[in-house]
Amino acid sequence: MLRVSSLSKRYRTGDHALNGVSFEVPAGQVVGLIGPSGAGKSTLIRCINRLVEPTSGQVQLNDTDITQLGRGGLRRARRRMGMIFQEYALVERLSVMENVLSGRLGYVPFWRSFLRRFPQADVDKAFTLLDRVGLTEQADKRASALSGGQRQRVGIARALEQDPELLLVDEPTASLDPKTARQIMRLICEICRERTLPAIISLHDVLLAKMFVDRIIGLRAGQIVFDGAPAALNTAMLTEIYGEEDWTQIHDDKAEDDIDLDAHAREERMAGLA
Ligand code: ADP
Repeated sequence: MLRVSSLSKRYRTGDHALNGVSFEVPAGQVVGLIGPSGAGKSTLIRCINRLVEPTSGQVQLNDTDITQLGRGGLRRARRRMGMIFQEYALVERLSVMENVLSGRLGYVPFWRSFLRRFPQADVDKAFTLLDRVGLTEQADKRASALSGGQRQRVGIARALEQDPELLLVDEPTASLDPKTARQIMRLICEICRERTLPAIISLHDVLLAKMFVDRIIGLRAGQIVFDGAPAALNTAMLTEIYGEEDWTQIHDDKAEDDIDLDAHAREERMAGLA
């Protein structure tokens, strides 16, 4: 379980990107983080693994207070938090398999990683993961030869290769077409459920969040203004998060579109499992 308490971040420029954010994520729960550009989504995700150093507050992952760790402790703790990026962050000239194995770099002695000699157990695990994300055939291809959707599948497998206790996902679908975006979201959410892995996924697409995640946290100007079930994200709440707009495509209060949306999401999940 992840516990974030009174987390704040003020950048040197004076931007107060996070202001007293608190929430808990139990094992296996997939949380969608939404909010307008500049709301603090990326800062929040990066404060959790301290890629961005919080100004105050606490981040607790299971028995570890992440915010109190020194350099060595933080390095070890980061291995327990898998991260998936919008722009994939693959090493282009390396193969798909080598990119997945790079998820083990924090564990393997430097000389072995330099020579790209990984333990057989790591290689076996990478093959299993590549199979799970549908890339068995591509294992030997260079990362540069893959489509956007395939690249993100490599990013997912790489994050899982380190057996994380938490998945941090920053705008995983922002560079993908709508159909591929759904496939990637479905895959991430299914894998989290299979592994009872908690995840925080920042998304700019509210509809995508509503379709796939268990819970939505809405940020505005560095503060949580919504925290609840996707179905509870009504027009008033969307206005609170994003401001005045026509939200009927996402939530039609009168027509109760949400019932259809839930049914649709279930269909999508079933199709994904088939
Ligand atoms: P989001 O991911 O929701 O778009 P961000 O976390 O990127 O929001 O940004 C939140 C606020 O912090 C914005 O006002 C942004 O300008 C500011 N900010 C983000 N990164 C930095 C940085 N490295 N230095 C200074 N200000 C930053």
